[in-house]
Amino acid sequence: MTVANGRGFLSIPGPTNIPDAVLAAMHRPAIDIYSGDMLGVTRTLLEDLPKIFRTSGRAYIYAANGHGGWEAALSNVLSRGETVLVLESGLFALGWGEMGRIMGVKIDVLKGDSRRAVDPAAVAQRLAADTTHEIKAILVVQIDTASSVVNDIAAIRRAIDSVKHPALLMVDCVASLGCMPFEMDAWGVDVAMAGSQKGLMTPPGLAFVAANARARAAHQKADLRTRYWDWTFRDGEAHYQKYGGTPPEHLLFGLRKALDILMEEGLEHAARRHALLAEATRRAVARWAEAGALAFNIIRPEERANSVTNVLTPDRNPQPLLDYLRHKCGVVLGLGIGDLTGRAFRIAHMGHINAPMMFGTLGAIEMGLVALDIPHGAGGVQAAVEYLGREVH
Ligand SMILES: *Cc1c(COP(=O)(O)O)cnc(C)c1O
Repeated sequence: MTVANGRGFLSIPGPTNIPDAVLAAMHRPAIDIYSGDMLGVTRTLLEDLPKIFRTSGRAYIYAANGHGGWEAALSNVLSRGETVLVLESGLFALGWGEMGRIMGVKIDVLKGDSRRAVDPAAVAQRLAADTTHEIKAILVVQIDTASSVVNDIAAIRRAIDSVKHPALLMVDCVASLGCMPFEMDAWGVDVAMAGSQKGLMTPPGLAFVAANARARAAHQKADLRTRYWDWTFRDGEAHYQKYGGTPPEHLLFGLRKALDILMEEGLEHAARRHALLAEATRRAVARWAEAGALAFNIIRPEERANSVTNVLTPDRNPQPLLDYLRHKCGVVLGLGIGDLTGRAFRIAHMGHINAPMMFGTLGAIEMGLVALDIPHGAGGVQAAVEYLGREVH
């Protein structure tokens, strides 16, 4: 028996649910790339993206996924042979660093693990030891989607400043922009990048990079620049230069609608919504975890992200549970990845989601725990409902 027919629930941490209005905005014929609507959309997106990153700097739009955004960020500010410090806190900063290594920069990793946030004191210590300022840039993710940790970017900036180190601070906000506060200028972030398909509620295929004046100064002497990613080329007057070729028209119309939705809700409100739905999820997981078969991957509560929750299943492979949810309930959860493969699952609460969607996912998980006889504390969904009932007025 299955009860999966009906609206499917995609509860993976990207791509995320796309609002119907965003889908509808893309349902239109192709248009001329040199006139009319296309020019207006480009202009307003290039005006609004810096507002989302909270910077007075400039933003660039690439027809690319997040990995393309990584390459764009690195190639515009670095030169072959320079050293970059990667702050490990899961998988994604390491992946970004690995890309840099292949491009020809030296990668130095500040060791971390998949259950903890980056320790700002350790960052200060490592940078203090770099007396000749070999390190030119620091790579960190705000939310690591694999571990579900959130890093304190403002505290990392303070750590860098405490030892007066001049390295650029480069932040991956793919899984956090639109989901929690990000203050590029106020936090002293020099380069920030994101993708369309997570908190920004748009199909995969667009990457964004924002740069401040320090990043643009580094750009002047970067020798990893290539034509497609190059900021200077994209700053040119001709419209096709903004995209290094044909604009990804339909994705841009979708993004326009998604940013309208986000700006109408307000960034602060969206962050609060994510915080509430994340905490509701954590209340449920905490209740289930009482029986010992499930646990939070992230050890310290204050380091748990508001866009995704990684749940460890220490003594069993979660695959049967994921299969049950997919085939019997129509709910797709995220797998554990990296060193958590076969030992964890991930619940997304990112982007276009509301309380009933969250209850739907949590209710199905609890149903799966019952069906598969996985030991769990009862009343997880109840705890989530009660939490939101107390908080939302
Ligand atoms: C999803 C993600 C990426 C990679 O994005 P792709 O579009 O899959 O290339 C990078 N960083 C973080 C934090 C992510 O969550």
